[in-house]
Amino acid sequence: MMNESQSEALARIDALIANVPDFPKPGIQFKDITPLLASSEVFAESIELLAEKSQTLGADLIAAPESRGFLFGLPVAQKLGIGFIPIRKPGKLPGETISVEYDLEYGTDTVEMRAGAIQPGQKVLLIDDVLATGGTIAACEKLAEKQGGVVIGAGFLMELSFLNGRNLIPDCEVFSLLEIQD
Ligand code: AMP
Repeated sequence: MMNESQSEALARIDALIANVPDFPKPGIQFKDITPLLASSEVFAESIELLAEKSQTLGADLIAAPESRGFLFGLPVAQKLGIGFIPIRKPGKLPGETISVEYDLEYGTDTVEMRAGAIQPGQKVLLIDDVLATGGTIAACEKLAEKQGGVVIGAGFLMELSFLNGRNLIPDCEVFSLLEIQD
């Protein structure tokens, strides 16, 4: 259950997410988190709330896709006292990597992780800023599972619920601080 101070914090977070119409292309309403990042106090509240929701899941580590996933995933991992694994676009990580390719509206994209970053059986929580169609986070889930990780949850600052992204990750607990209905 949400208490009054939590719902007030959520209202402050919501107020610092700007809606940018037709970015990066016509018809997309971009959720711009830069005003939130610019507020030390309200950003800290968003990390606190994400960490609270994450804590009960008992993750061994957090993994997040670049680049906005890093902004939320790493501070939450620090708060929980667990490790963080960056998931990157192809060609950015040195050494041996594991990749997963996924479909975009036009074409494909790829996510990568350092080989050996997850030990078999480790419980992984995925974090990102926005859950939209779910393609990115589903690819991240596959990446973790390829290394034997067990993805127990996926947490987001915002969920664009009308896109039904959570249907692509049916086996894990999905939570978001803000749900955008339309
Ligand atoms: P998706 O794979 O469709 O769930 O898209 C997720 C990724 O794209 C996330 O990493 C988001 O940061 C970004 N994204 C998708 N839609 C939006 C949006 N409307 N506003 C801001 N970021 C978005």
